[in-house]
Amino acid sequence: MSIKDIITVPSEILKKKSEPIEKVGKNEKKLIKDLFDTMYASKGIGLAAVQVGILKRILVIDVSNKDEQKKPISLINPIIKRLSDDTSVYEEGCLSIPETFIEIERPKICEIEYIDLDGNKKELKCDGLMSTCVQHEINHLDGKLIIDHLSKLKKDFIIKKISKLQKNPDRVIV
Ligand code: ZN
Repeated sequence: MSIKDIITVPSEILKKKSEPIEKVGKNEKKLIKDLFDTMYASKGIGLAAVQVGILKRILVIDVSNKDEQKKPISLINPIIKRLSDDTSVYEEGCLSIPETFIEIERPKICEIEYIDLDGNKKELKCDGLMSTCVQHEINHLDGKLIIDHLSKLKKDFIIKKISKLQKNPDRVIV
């Protein structure tokens, strides 16, 4: 088991575009395993490789409830093929933006194409929470974060707040 450190804002790497994978090899499989370990340890429902500092188009997702059996899915080179006109709104958090939740409206359904762990091309239709999560994670691969949905003023305020939190890691309230 290998849990990686998750990179948080305002790190510049989070704004970078990730590169497609040419071949799914040993390194990619190891990275996917590490991403799952890190995501489960952080109680997230999705994690992109860039969030552990690797600019590859790989992400992992598991939107199962905690009482359910785990439903891990890893997406390599995911591409959105179709988005619905219908939308849904979720309050989204992000492991790279601590203590911040933002209401975001996104297409309710998205259809994607991706490569699986064995290198096979797959298609998937995502609805509801899964759709929002997939879109959130694919945004990461293009350097886009949930705070980019906000005005510059609000975005700067959140980044300042998080930078302050990081400077005071030992602060406790008793
Ligand atoms: Zn995120």
